[in-house]
Amino acid sequence: MRYEVGFNGCIDFRVISYRGLDDKSNRVQLRSHSILSMASNGELSLFGKQKKDNVTNGVRSETPNFVSQPSVDVQKDFSSVKSTRRRTIASLATGAIAHASSVDHARGGEVLSRRKTSSSPLKELAIADYHQNMRAFGGALCLPIECLAKNSPAGVPWQYDVAVVGSGYGAAITAARLAEKMRPGTKLCILERGREWIPGTFPDVLGDVMDETRLKIFGRNQREINNPTGLFNVLQGEEISVLSGSGIGGTSLINASVAIRPDREVFLQTQWPMALRDLDSLNLYFDRAEWELHARVDSCDWTHKMRSQRLAAEKLRDQGCHYEAAAISVMRSYQGPNLPIMNRQGIIQRDCTDCGDCMTGCNVGAKNSLAMNYLPLARRAGAEMFAQVEIRQIEKCNGFYRLHFLYHQRDAHGKHQSIPGCITSRLVVLGAGSLGSSEILMRSQNDRFAFSKQLGCNWTGNGDALGFVGKSEYDTNIGGVSAYPEQACRIGPTIQTNLTYPCRPHLFDRVLIQEGAAPRSYANSLGILMQDMDLDNTLALLGMGHDRQEGKIVLEDNGNGVVTWPGLLDSPYRRHIREEFAKVAHAHGGKYKYLKIFGDRMVSVHPLGGCAMSDDPRSGVLNHKGQVYDCACGGDIDPQTGELRVHEGLYVSDGAIFPTAIACNPYLTISAMAERNAQLLTMEPQYADLFKV
Ligand SMILES: Cc1cc2nc3c(=O)[nH]c(=O)nc-3n(C[C@H](O)[C@H](O)[C@H](O)COP(=O)(O)OP(=O)(O)OC[C@H]3O[C@@H](n4cnc5c(N)ncnc54)[C@H](O)[C@@H]3O)c2cc1C
Repeated sequence: MRYEVGFNGCIDFRVISYRGLDDKSNRVQLRSHSILSMASNGELSLFGKQKKDNVTNGVRSETPNFVSQPSVDVQKDFSSVKSTRRRTIASLATGAIAHASSVDHARGGEVLSRRKTSSSPLKELAIADYHQNMRAFGGALCLPIECLAKNSPAGVPWQYDVAVVGSGYGAAITAARLAEKMRPGTKLCILERGREWIPGTFPDVLGDVMDETRLKIFGRNQREINNPTGLFNVLQGEEISVLSGSGIGGTSLINASVAIRPDREVFLQTQWPMALRDLDSLNLYFDRAEWELHARVDSCDWTHKMRSQRLAAEKLRDQGCHYEAAAISVMRSYQGPNLPIMNRQGIIQRDCTDCGDCMTGCNVGAKNSLAMNYLPLARRAGAEMFAQVEIRQIEKCNGFYRLHFLYHQRDAHGKHQSIPGCITSRLVVLGAGSLGSSEILMRSQNDRFAFSKQLGCNWTGNGDALGFVGKSEYDTNIGGVSAYPEQACRIGPTIQTNLTYPCRPHLFDRVLIQEGAAPRSYANSLGILMQDMDLDNTLALLGMGHDRQEGKIVLEDNGNGVVTWPGLLDSPYRRHIREEFAKVAHAHGGKYKYLKIFGDRMVSVHPLGGCAMSDDPRSGVLNHKGQVYDCACGGDIDPQTGELRVHEGLYVSDGAIFPTAIACNPYLTISAMAERNAQLLTMEPQYADLFKV
């Protein structure tokens, strides 16, 4: 028997599923085999497990024998499938049938993105909250592109005093802290490549997720930029793929919001600048970031996946495994999602519904993404924010910088257009993420505007690895349900637990393993990629560790970066993390499974490095304050200051600045560093005319 669930009205994404008997258990199970996609050029791609012969890197292109069957009574036909899976399939179909599409070119660009997913009361509440929150800002966090300054203030050759590139943790925090201290008349802008998003409009069906991908990953031309303002930025290297977010709020829009401080020994590694070797000296900044992002632990285990991890950890206790509930930045008042909650920054949010969809954007307004805290702070303090502005290159002028950008928009027919432009600024802070900031500097360098030879080097995926426990003896229930209250059950935020081995004497032996839920849009495709996967007893695992940061960002001909890491796939680290996964899977009474979603590559959601801090320009790109070393004269000492030469007014503040992996989820550390370096910047005597101390 075969069913098809189409998402877009037109045939461009389909899941083909059928119900069949499981050979071993003799139970009826839902089985799903293929994703069929039709690209706009008419090319058909089939992605699945069968017929391995034609598969290259997990991608297959062929024209399958395909019978169209647009609508099905899924609820009735899948009545014997286990609860979560049935719910997921039913909700996917509902989304397909009831989809609504609207484009709203509101202020700041496409604020309300194309909404193909169906509505729900919780989504409507989140959308209404957004409009309420944005009233104080004239309707949106971002200003229309026409407001980007065209003229310089009298007496200076630059249009802005500070330009912050990106709007993730490094950028948003820097912008908020600098804006708070700006003297009257000082102008600061935030320039972000992605769009502004309204909670309640994030994609929660697979077709929409694919439409929101910056890089086309299925199909023949894997490297083509598909949607320049897409939410999901996927970068495929030979050995490692990287996923990050793109939009106002950066990767905070799609992360799992786990906040964690690294082991003290991480900073004792010789690669870190002396000024940062002591974790205690950073505690103040960690505290500040935790407070603003409202990260906290809910310790009781109220979801299946939490409980299953605790039970597994108990079995591993004699091997030194430590279980703890993770600190997470989501709103919880325990009053239910119907009551609005005012957060610490005066923004209305809602209670977390435990829907499991953090990774594709929170549709109920519960996640403390940067659009809920630091970015409104920045805006309230006078920062001007612009979306869909991608910085391609910066040019050093006499005492200021010229930033060359592409403004991405859609024309009346929905086709992408990229319009070039430039602005000038006295100070530039790059916060475009590990890959983004490194790429911008790489594209900009020349003999006179020279950087350390280490630019792009020491890149790390933070030891990220993705694995699965199949057929766990515990209930796991990891199929996300998005904002559909009638289907609500407590999946939990994407990640809720940490398994660590704190007593292992060698730092490099320590790993962190977390459990994960699959957001609604991916939940069904997990079944497709692993035919016998039942989301009620499957657990996703995300591992982190010390991968020795030997990756390198290189520029391709099109000027975009890609990571190369020869040797990674056969590295001792990879064997190590897989062994750790196998142990955890065994403790669950299940089997470790490796999902080749990106071929045999590793996958990182925590890209770090590329512009590493160091005390020496021969081994790093920045000093401990995030200032970019000027290596035109070989990185020598400036006789006037007695310090190593830097490009005056050029900073990096984001995940790019890390000289090593930190083996835990990094946003809190990125935030703490940004808090610290923003404070140091405002205290620089040469900028006393811009900032109050
Ligand atoms: C699925 C997923 C789950 C995650 N879960 C967690 C978690 O639970 N805990 C945790 O600590 N971390 C998590 N992370 C990682 C974490 O979110 C990132 O480490 C963090 O957001 C990085 O911050 P950043 O400031 O370096 O850059 P980002 O947050 O990535 O922001 C960079 C921004 O710059 C923009 N940009 C890039 N290039 C340009 C350009 N040329 N011009 C203009 N703008 C540009 C991008 O669009 C983006 O918005 C997760 C990541 C993913 C993908």
